[in-house]
Amino acid sequence: MGDSVSFIDAYRRIATEEAFAPPEMLRMYRELLASGRNDDPGFMSMWGFYSGSRSERATFIIERLQDLDAHRIADMDATGISMQVVSLTSPGVQVFDAETAKSLSVLANDQLADAVRRHPQRFVGLAACAPQDPAHAAQEIERCVRTLGFRGVIINSHTRHEYLNDAKFWEICEAAEALDVPIYLHPNTPSRGMIQPLLERGLDGAIYGFAVETGMHALSMITAGVFDRFPKLKLVLGHLGEALPFWLYRLDYMHQASIRANRYPFLKPLRQPVSAYLRENVYVTTSGMPWAPAIRFCQEVLGDTHVLYAMDYPYQYVAAEVAASDEVPMDAECRRRFFQTNAEALFGLEAH
Ligand code: CA
Repeated sequence: MGDSVSFIDAYRRIATEEAFAPPEMLRMYRELLASGRNDDPGFMSMWGFYSGSRSERATFIIERLQDLDAHRIADMDATGISMQVVSLTSPGVQVFDAETAKSLSVLANDQLADAVRRHPQRFVGLAACAPQDPAHAAQEIERCVRTLGFRGVIINSHTRHEYLNDAKFWEICEAAEALDVPIYLHPNTPSRGMIQPLLERGLDGAIYGFAVETGMHALSMITAGVFDRFPKLKLVLGHLGEALPFWLYRLDYMHQASIRANRYPFLKPLRQPVSAYLRENVYVTTSGMPWAPAIRFCQEVLGDTHVLYAMDYPYQYVAAEVAASDEVPMDAECRRRFFQTNAEALFGLEAH
């Protein structure tokens, strides 16, 4: 322990929830905020801050989100990150009308593909898509995987206040399953119906609101039967599973109790307990949670092949957190899985 050189020799660090933003998209965010046409209070809270603040934090993040070259690679080198799995930052295109979202998803994917071509040893791409038009989204995912070499899909939680538990979005799940790539369900600020008490208390963002929104989203996919319909679909959750691993026991108990009592007629029995989908279909990444007890807990209850390292660059670029992640107690084989081989297997990186 403590000899970072031997660790570096023993494993590569692959960071799996790392964000970028095309300059065009940030300009469109500013225009949407200024237009008064936006109906998403979470978007106004988050992007009103990042695009308006002169703080050091906001300035650094806006600058680094747009860089897929020298600055980003220098930051990776400075913290010992050999590869980033890069995805379009939240809420991506999902805040726009369908036509805007479709063309912007193609633009973002093409920009990311160019960066992967320039730095194939350092970046792997996830496909952005416009769930506003599920058929277009499925086609774009296929183009990204088959033509651009991307290795997964990014969905930034709700799309204009709608969730993937709704069967109208299932073409997206079907495409991901058929192409054998995971869907990374990344946070967004809570949807319109959920956000108000969080917003009034300043808790709507990454401090807690993201986890409430995204944990509920993932759980609702399970209870809607998405994984019975698409049993090979893999879902990735950041922030150590948005708290869901801690709830495994109670989720099973209360789901079964609700089903037995027929409390909600639309809630149908599942083939397996809720916890089984969380163990088998779901993978979690650390993204900004470099905390040994929580990492060890997730490894214990989900299995150590389902827990992966992520930094959450550029939102949480802290060198000491990489060192803290290196020091989490686990044996050498488990550590290599955590930083490297789980990501290689999940995103199919061996062939790259
Ligand atoms: Ca993130």
